[in-house]
Amino acid sequence: MGILAAVSFLGALLEASFLVLVTGIAMALVAGDSSVGPYYGWLVPIRHALVGAATVLVVRLGLSLTSVAISARLTADVTGDQRHLLSDAYLQTSWAVQQSEPSGRLQELLTSFVGRVTNTVSTMTSAVTALLSLIAFLGAGLAIDAASTGAVLVTLGLVGGVLTPLRRRIRSLATDSARANVDFASAVSELGALGLEMQTFGVQHRFASRIHRLSHDTTATQQRVQFLTGALAPIYMSMAYAAALAGVALLALMGFGDVAELGAVMLLMLRSLSYGQQLAAASGSIAAAAPFLEAIRSTADRYRAAPAGGGGVVPDAVTPLVGTNVSYAYSLSRPALRGASFRLAKGEIVGVIGPSGAGKSTLAQLLLGLRKPTAGSLSAAGTELGVVNRFWWTRRVSFVPQDAFLFTGTVAENIRFFRDDIGEDDIRRAAAQANVLADIEALPKGLYTHLGERGNQLSGGQRQRITIARALVGDPQFLVLDEPTSALDSRSEALVRQTLASLRGKVTVVVIAHRMSTLDICDRVMVIESGHVTAFDTPEALRESSEFYRNSLTVSGIG
Ligand code: ADP
Repeated sequence: MGILAAVSFLGALLEASFLVLVTGIAMALVAGDSSVGPYYGWLVPIRHALVGAATVLVVRLGLSLTSVAISARLTADVTGDQRHLLSDAYLQTSWAVQQSEPSGRLQELLTSFVGRVTNTVSTMTSAVTALLSLIAFLGAGLAIDAASTGAVLVTLGLVGGVLTPLRRRIRSLATDSARANVDFASAVSELGALGLEMQTFGVQHRFASRIHRLSHDTTATQQRVQFLTGALAPIYMSMAYAAALAGVALLALMGFGDVAELGAVMLLMLRSLSYGQQLAAASGSIAAAAPFLEAIRSTADRYRAAPAGGGGVVPDAVTPLVGTNVSYAYSLSRPALRGASFRLAKGEIVGVIGPSGAGKSTLAQLLLGLRKPTAGSLSAAGTELGVVNRFWWTRRVSFVPQDAFLFTGTVAENIRFFRDDIGEDDIRRAAAQANVLADIEALPKGLYTHLGERGNQLSGGQRQRITIARALVGDPQFLVLDEPTSALDSRSEALVRQTLASLRGKVTVVVIAHRMSTLDICDRVMVIESGHVTAFDTPEALRESSEFYRNSLTVSGIG
């Protein structure tokens, strides 16, 4: 920015000198003189003045091109910086913050909001150029005729000031526009996720009208912002020209001696006004983009204010994993989990059951260290989970979500999941352990088959077993599965059960079970109802002690 400012200022000084020289030459030719000036007491022969003007022009072109190149570089840097700032902050924030982000918002901020800011950077660089050029021109003007330049200066300031309320209005409308854009992006992201349901229920037209309404909100605010931003420059210019006209009238009344001087001052002043116009236009664009930049900044600050937890302590092991009176509340009014106490031993397989909304997923997230208990404590081999070194922890715990999500890439990449130290042998072993190796080998390029978006060449069961291979490939000591088989066919479910049973004694497994058949392989089962652990015992003992367990067995036809 400093170099850009210097280059612009120098360029403007040269342009001002060029204009003074050219008017001088023209006046000298009209008057039949052989020299131009005097400039600071020097008379310059016309031929020298012409060569001088041409040289100034060439140097000025070089400086202009330099400033354009700097501006392009600056714009690219700012785009990258804003994207890195936001995406890094998002990736380092806690799961609680990530999860509460409305869908599509981050994408909108990273793409269209950053785009707005980028456009404004080029506007800002041209504003800097315009401002410095204005200063250079007014400086040149002051050197020639202080009184009229001073008058122009006052006029520019007054006119700029008069437009302040308009800039405020632009800013407030742009804030609405930013909000409308985020709402629209969220709706579009839901549109992408709900395609199947939309087709099935035949409600596309209802969703279309929702999209149209939100789209209209964005375009209506955008239209007003664009109108006011566009109006700023012409309003400014008309007012400034009116002031210039008044100035000329004043000069005519007062009388003005030197025609060449008058011509040069007029040229400089008109050019100053056009730089002023550029400044007015830039100030409008900046006011319109400011809310978008603020949204990026404040979101990044919010992410950074809640970093993912963890400390520097490395415990002896992951287990025993002990919960003492663990409670968690998303909002103060109604805790999702209340006073849960338990002890998970090494290598045991624990099932978790309970009605929907009972707090099972919340418990899973607490066990993974993704959320901190709002009361009570959770410890790994005697070390409070909150202070455990995050890198150490994430290399030893693993998770399988309910919905298997595969990203665009090969099967191997999906299993490795960005852990670069994992080799092909590990991937094959994990795939075999997850009972999916035969399915993978049947694909055209085996492990190196490229999967489209969301792994759509595979069945739900295959996708889920690939995410299980992903969870097993790092040799975890503790594995949490959130209803991994709820959407699977019975063959896939049996294969997953077989995999989990093979982990007994080696890996501590917590499986939130939807199907009671999954519980066959569990050493103990925890029953959660309305946020309370109402029973935690062996399946046999629960037949006696837990009414919920007995009812669930009956409902599933096992009892
Ligand atoms: P389960 O897994 O047993 O179905 P959850 O642990 O998902 O239950 O939810 C327990 C309670 O916490 C429910 O009342 C649910 O509405 C609430 N809850 C879950 N996730 C959130 C969230 N991200 N924000 C606010 N409330 C939540």
